[in-house]
Amino acid sequence: MDLLLQMLRSLQQLDDKLSAFGQRKKDIPEQIQAMERTYEEEKEGLEKHKQRLKEAGLEQRQLEKQLLESAEDRKKKQAKLLDVKTNEEYKALLKEIEYAKEADSATEDSILVLLEEIDSLEKGLKDKETSVLESEKKLKEEARRLELEIVEVDKEHQLLQGERKRVAAELAPEVLNDYEKIRSHRAGQAVVTVRKEVCPGCHMQVPPQTINEVLQTGEIRHCQYCRRILYCELEETA
Ligand SMILES: [Zn+2]
Repeated sequence: MDLLLQMLRSLQQLDDKLSAFGQRKKDIPEQIQAMERTYEEEKEGLEKHKQRLKEAGLEQRQLEKQLLESAEDRKKKQAKLLDVKTNEEYKALLKEIEYAKEADSATEDSILVLLEEIDSLEKGLKDKETSVLESEKKLKEEARRLELEIVEVDKEHQLLQGERKRVAAELAPEVLNDYEKIRSHRAGQAVVTVRKEVCPGCHMQVPPQTINEVLQTGEIRHCQYCRRILYCELEETA
């Protein structure tokens, strides 16, 4: 096969690699950012968990204080029962004491609910803390690995760019221009390898005669539909 067509094919392969490396260079920082976001969310979850635990403790202590004050108050009222003069006053006071008792019983229930919540929050806290620490470790390792990968990808990218420059410099300007034009119009794909008499760029048939010409002369032939440059290999006919 003619050297020129081989060179164009090499150029296409270099460009494919370059665009893959370019994409990876863009993807890696985004990957790191996404991992960081997930970690931050987990940390926020832990903070909320701790915050709720603190609040529940405060609520519990507040309700217990309220209960103590109410007991104190009831004791006073109980003592006052001995001093009241009228039956009405006595009844009213008894009712007040009864209401206070009911209120205290509701408060006690609330405290029980809170205690259960606190218990479950405390049990879950250790797991959450361990998980956050593990995620932090994983994030650091993964970020370090990806940062090393960026350096490698960057190095490869530069090497490939140098190689591309060398290959491109060997091509006649009009050939290179044609290649670049097709590449920019055809999603980066200027040279395609014909398979089963079909152009893989546009999936249209390539005349057998064209394939034979390319195989025999190695000259540049374009797909008559999409203008891509056709590279051909001898295919086993099954
Ligand atoms: Zn085509």
